[in-house]
Amino acid sequence: MIDKIVLASNNKKKMKEMNELLSPLGIEVVSQGSLGIAAAEEPFCTFIENSLAKARHAAKTSGLPAIADDSGICVDALLGAPGVMSARYAGEPSNDENNNKKLLAEMKGRSNRNAHYMCVIVAVRRHDDPEPLVAIGRWDGEVAQDRKGEGGFGYDPYFLIPELGKHAAELTPEEKNVISHRGKAMAKMRDLIVESWK
Ligand code: IMP
Repeated sequence: MIDKIVLASNNKKKMKEMNELLSPLGIEVVSQGSLGIAAAEEPFCTFIENSLAKARHAAKTSGLPAIADDSGICVDALLGAPGVMSARYAGEPSNDENNNKKLLAEMKGRSNRNAHYMCVIVAVRRHDDPEPLVAIGRWDGEVAQDRKGEGGFGYDPYFLIPELGKHAAELTPEEKNVISHRGKAMAKMRDLIVESWK
């Protein structure tokens, strides 16, 4: 089992989550920023390619195992858009309100409002690892017509979870973590590391 892994992100919340997940396994998580590693390009059209590119870049520049994630919202009627463009759907710089405005405009007049969040986490032992670990989490819902809730971020105010009759932004962080794409992918990655990197 490895004892240190680089997280290919400088996001404080992601660092905290990853540490909570991996420190019980005796794995120390360090951010790529703390090692002076710049963020990788994310030029691909799929979550898995971007996640793998980020993990490989962090592993290559640090010489350590690395872990990365990529996530977004995919809408059936839009053939998976915004997808990997979720953060910048309405253009640069990233703006949640403008992204939601654009999504609602694209959904106008469409009867199929099914959507899901996707999260793909990739971990590699070295940059040329032939067996990257890949954990995928999916959270199904619908694009609502109106916003509800003050929690979460991104598309959460408009993400309706039909079985709960609530929008994602109405959930507490703990409630969201149990059912979210990210929570599910993280739990799967933990199991994969335990099984595969003995
Ligand atoms: P990242 O991969 O964490 O950078 O997320 C990419 C983008 O996908 C975010 O900027 C959001 O627009 C969207 N997204 C990913 N996960 C969520 C979520 O749990 N709630 C709302 N939006 C999300």
